[in-house]
Amino acid sequence: MILCIQNMSNLVIKYKGGWFLMCKLAKKCIIAIDGGSGVGKTTVSKALSKKLGIIYIDTGAMYRATGLYFLNNKIEINDKNIENNLEKINVDLKINSDGENEVYLNGENVTDKIRTEEVSMAASNVSKNSKVREHLVQKQRALAGTQSVVIEGRDAATVIFPNADIKLFFTSNIDIRSSRRYNDLKKRDSSVKLENVKNDLIKRDKQDSTRTDSPLKKAKGSILIDTSNCTVEETTNSILDILRERIGLI
Ligand code: C5P
Repeated sequence: MILCIQNMSNLVIKYKGGWFLMCKLAKKCIIAIDGGSGVGKTTVSKALSKKLGIIYIDTGAMYRATGLYFLNNKIEINDKNIENNLEKINVDLKINSDGENEVYLNGENVTDKIRTEEVSMAASNVSKNSKVREHLVQKQRALAGTQSVVIEGRDAATVIFPNADIKLFFTSNIDIRSSRRYNDLKKRDSSVKLENVKNDLIKRDKQDSTRTDSPLKKAKGSILIDTSNCTVEETTNSILDILRERIGLI
């Protein structure tokens, strides 16, 4: 249940047991967030979109679902196999009634299945392929449509929306990122090792930032945000300050 209280100019809502102070963007706005693995893009995007009452798009979930197709079917990930299978892969991102992203692979809800290290690496491997990227970028732009949106990934501000109103690039200390990701993975798999998680993050970031098509990089005009020593709330509030100054919040 969502309970709303309008207090002077602020809208306060009770949602999932907590009270949230809502803000409204003064005008339509695209907020594009990029950054390496485990820097907190998805968590902050979710929190920010809830505060603003707008949607968020987790583009990484779509590459993960594509990678999962190859793992499920035990097909080696290479350009030839990708070309032969692309038509058989249907990835959809839906926004549920709680505003959460749900990802579907050929009609199956795979939202939970894509959160493993094996799928992370498969996602990075398929994401090098230009045909995969072209196809998913088109879907991501269509999903955003003409509304305000928080969109996050590796190419949100460089390729998907190079003219985004607000461009942000997240960075964070590798040890902090590794332990955040480790704690997340540990909830699902008790055998996960911190050292392996760290090595996978380093490997994936290297692969993502050195590929030819849409490498991970800070877009021109992006604001650098270091999330190392900040809580989700602190990072979200810093972004709200930027929005207040550049776009206006009501
Ligand atoms: O963000 P997440 O860790 O879920 O992304 C998984 C992988 O998908 C990344 O390591 C990257 O290779 C790929 N990706 C991408 N472009 C995006 C989002 C994710 O290439 N916009």
